[in-house]
Amino acid sequence: MKVLITGAGQDSSLSTYLHLVRGDQVYVLTRRRADGLTDQMRKVTEILNESPVFVYTDLTEYENVFDIVRELKPDMIYHYGAMSFVPYSYNNPIYTAQVNELSAYAILEAVRKHSPSAKVFLPASSEVFGKPVEYPQRLSTPLAPVSPYAISKVGLLYIADYYRKVWKLHVYDFITFNHESELRGEEFVTMKIVKNLVKKGHVVLGNIEARKDWGYGAEYVKIFNRVMEGEEPKRYILCTGVIATVKDFLSYVISKVGGTYEIDESLYRPVDAEGMTCDITEVPIKPRYMWWDVADIMIKYVKEGALTFTEVLGRI
Ligand code: GDP
Repeated sequence: MKVLITGAGQDSSLSTYLHLVRGDQVYVLTRRRADGLTDQMRKVTEILNESPVFVYTDLTEYENVFDIVRELKPDMIYHYGAMSFVPYSYNNPIYTAQVNELSAYAILEAVRKHSPSAKVFLPASSEVFGKPVEYPQRLSTPLAPVSPYAISKVGLLYIADYYRKVWKLHVYDFITFNHESELRGEEFVTMKIVKNLVKKGHVVLGNIEARKDWGYGAEYVKIFNRVMEGEEPKRYILCTGVIATVKDFLSYVISKVGGTYEIDESLYRPVDAEGMTCDITEVPIKPRYMWWDVADIMIKYVKEGALTFTEVLGRI
């Protein structure tokens, strides 16, 4: 099987691992970086002693993106590549729309014209619910985005609908809640907490009353794959169904590794999450790893370098 994965962050790297282990041909479309691979991709290639084929382009070079899909004719496409940091999107709304939304058109137009049997995964985000009008959120909950990032992800949902309905393409769009792993970047609060507490014994945070639903990234990419292999193309929602505050996560990590924290109000966001979790009866496959398991996995990794995603996604 030929698999095209865009992006080189957490989910892209975990899906790359999953498909390389299975012996698939994996192509990764990502930006050329001055310092080589992302830490996440480097980790995956080191563990496997094998590399996907890297195709270097920026996602906003839409013609390149289109051409790559036309030439490769992949069986499966995961379009993870995105500007995924919510605070950055407030001051960079146009760039966010260009990277996150317009690149999806480039991919789906190429699929429509040259590779219509391909299965395409589009990741949306719980951010599409913004300040949710109901708790927990469901597939039927009205979309109410409150950041350019969230707006771009709402766009993806409609793009998915359009290509499924009008062109009968096999598009799977997932409204996915937060998911973390050993490969999470330090700009996200979970890894920021774990790394700072383990390495420096102190962490400076913004709003620790924010309420989130954190699952395990490796389990989530496995679920994406299982759904794409076995279920019909449509919109899905994925969460653990368990809510926690940043403070809960922080207190748990402090109870395991010690350390102290302080609050810096300049890290607060203009609008923040007040209770993001979904109706667990609507998820296609129920996750087994809850936020405290994810915290344990991240602590074990930062302290000892121990990997869990290799167990979850399959060994070489
Ligand atoms: P996001 O949900 O994709 O934006 O993931 P993040 O890990 O960046 O943020 C999770 C939540 O943690 C947000 O509601 C933030 O407001 C909150 N938070 C509190 N302090 C911090 C911090 O220092 N850094 C980040 N990134 N988030 C923080």
